[in-house]
Amino acid sequence: MTKIFFTKEELRFREEVREFARREIAPYADDVEKGMYPGPLLKKIAEAGYMRQLHPIEYGGTNKGLVYEMIVAEEIAAVSAPTDMSRTASSTLCAIPISRFGTDEQKRKYLTPIIRGEMIGAIGITEPDVGSDTAGMKTRAIREGDEYVINGEKRFITNGADANIITLFAISNPEVPAKRGASAFIFPTDTEGFKVEKVYNLLGMHGMRIAHLKFENCRIPAENLLGKEGMGFNILMDELDTERISIAAEMIGIARAAFEIAVKYSTERVQFNRPINWFEGISFKIADMATLLDAAELLTLRAARMVNRGESASKESAMAKVFAVDHAFEICNQALQVLGGIGYTTEYPVERYLRDVRIGMIGGGTSEIMRFLIQREVYREFEQKVGKEKQAIPVEVSSTSGRENS
Ligand SMILES: Cc1cc2nc3c(=O)[nH]c(=O)nc-3n(C[C@H](O)[C@H](O)[C@H](O)COP(=O)(O)OP(=O)(O)OC[C@H]3O[C@@H](n4cnc5c(N)ncnc54)[C@H](O)[C@@H]3O)c2cc1C
Repeated sequence: MTKIFFTKEELRFREEVREFARREIAPYADDVEKGMYPGPLLKKIAEAGYMRQLHPIEYGGTNKGLVYEMIVAEEIAAVSAPTDMSRTASSTLCAIPISRFGTDEQKRKYLTPIIRGEMIGAIGITEPDVGSDTAGMKTRAIREGDEYVINGEKRFITNGADANIITLFAISNPEVPAKRGASAFIFPTDTEGFKVEKVYNLLGMHGMRIAHLKFENCRIPAENLLGKEGMGFNILMDELDTERISIAAEMIGIARAAFEIAVKYSTERVQFNRPINWFEGISFKIADMATLLDAAELLTLRAARMVNRGESASKESAMAKVFAVDHAFEICNQALQVLGGIGYTTEYPVERYLRDVRIGMIGGGTSEIMRFLIQREVYREFEQKVGKEKQAIPVEVSSTSGRENS
């Protein structure tokens, strides 16, 4: 078990959240699977205080940090993953930029109501022509006097049709490269010109509504700018590390739920006069699942602790996400295999877990992009090391190569 890597207080908190999720969320998991938007559940979660982990105490948070957020994500996702994805879209993805870059007034007006469940938030990055390549963003926010005028489209926005506010990323200065020309805004969805174009049907994560949104000459006050103009990419990159760790935790939660069903079923199902866990073909699957679950949790915990310490964790959060999502998918797949035919039916939720878990490889940056980020950091570190070694070579030794004189 990975228990020794958590503090006693964290373990106690996990028990508390697990009990809450079992009692308050699990009874509605089937309704959410049938398409119920988990809005009322978000309210319950907020009332229980589980939207507070990442936010400052003076605005209603607990400031406990990302390990506590990881625990909440894992435990709620283990009973209803779409519910947790809606929660994190609001109190993590939307709220983290406000929490870290917002003014006192913005925090009081938007952050506190989100933490209390009085407002629902969303984050708007992806567009019809722009997914992985966020620098190609086309949505414009052009300043006119005391307002920004917003035009463009965002798609696949979780909570997009239900949110009160969207943390919106848009180009505010088209004259410079997007990395310096993008800004972040708090966009109230009651702004004139805002339209929900469509809500998509999904493979899994039913109930988690993702929407295509249109912005036509939407005017928002200039005071809704987050941070400074041109800081959009810094704000986005800062948010994404936290988002990826939350997604990793959610996928671990789903995989753990599938794993637990597979363990129990394998001890009860009898074939050839013995429980099927007597066959290594089954019990070795369980061994692999247990190992991968612990490894995923440890990678995620490492990244979360680094973020808590204010360290840069882009590589570690990408590693945690890609490892957790790839293996969570495989764990759900193998769990279904342990159940045989009944696993393919809706008698057990494992088929649902397999559909739900697939989003992990796409949302918050695809698995290909995670690998891109990891290798980029690996080569950057390599270049730095080689550079230092070169600098450390004494001149008289290096000059024997003759290159200095050529
Ligand atoms: C259920 C769901 C919820 C979502 N919620 C939100 C949300 O709340 N807010 C939001 O802004 N977005 C959200 N998204 C969007 C999500 O972040 C994007 O779908 C994701 O970043 C990928 O973008 P894309 O779909 O445009 O794929 P593309 O970027 O078009 O990629 C297509 C394929 O090409 C690969 N690819 C692209 N570039 C490279 C490269 N350089 N190297 C190797 N492979 C590459 C990708 O990995 C992928 O396999 C959500 C998506 C889903 C499905």
